[in-house]
Amino acid sequence: MKLENKQFAIIGLGRFGLAVCQELEETGAQVLALDIDEEKVRQAASVIGQAVVANCTSEETVEELKLDEYDMVLVAIGADVNASILTTLVVKEAGAKTVWVKANDRFHAKILHKIGADHIIMPERDMGIRVARKMLDKRVLEFHSLGSGMAMTEVVIGHRLMGQTLSELSFVRERS
Ligand code: ATP
Repeated sequence: MKLENKQFAIIGLGRFGLAVCQELEETGAQVLALDIDEEKVRQAASVIGQAVVANCTSEETVEELKLDEYDMVLVAIGADVNASILTTLVVKEAGAKTVWVKANDRFHAKILHKIGADHIIMPERDMGIRVARKMLDKRVLEFHSLGSGMAMTEVVIGHRLMGQTLSELSFVRERS
């Protein structure tokens, strides 16, 4: 599916939610930005094509918005944990295919996981880990923890390693 045919709904237009909306919109995806706060929606409307005032803890509102037809829904409500949990539950029960949710801490994350969130993001923790990795080794450009002790990193390599595949470098070894 082409990016411009992908539909994303972002609930909560704090700094995090709004940044996600802008980045998605700039890449050509279709974005629906939602917030209970009229002022937040008014500000978002200047940069996002479709911005709507909505209380997403309401089952009727979520039904009307047809969020089940979107490829992905992101719940980016932080301070009000009750609203975050209830919105996630309502959106999942409405049949949304893939629901990503921002969590404040691991207890919030645990509840979200139990009610069926498909992916949980903890921005402050994740960014803290990435910054620490970069501080430890300046060659690390990007660091993403994949869980279970695995991680994906982008590193600066020297001339000696340039132009070679991972198997040529013997970075990937078969288990004996
Ligand atoms: P930031 O992303 O700026 O760090 P944050 O994670 O603390 O902030 P909040 O400001 O708590 O996020 O919430 C994000 C947005 O979610 C707010 O603009 C708020 O109005 C909106 N919001 C809260 N409850 C609801 C709701 N029931 N339905 C839709 N939007 C809501």
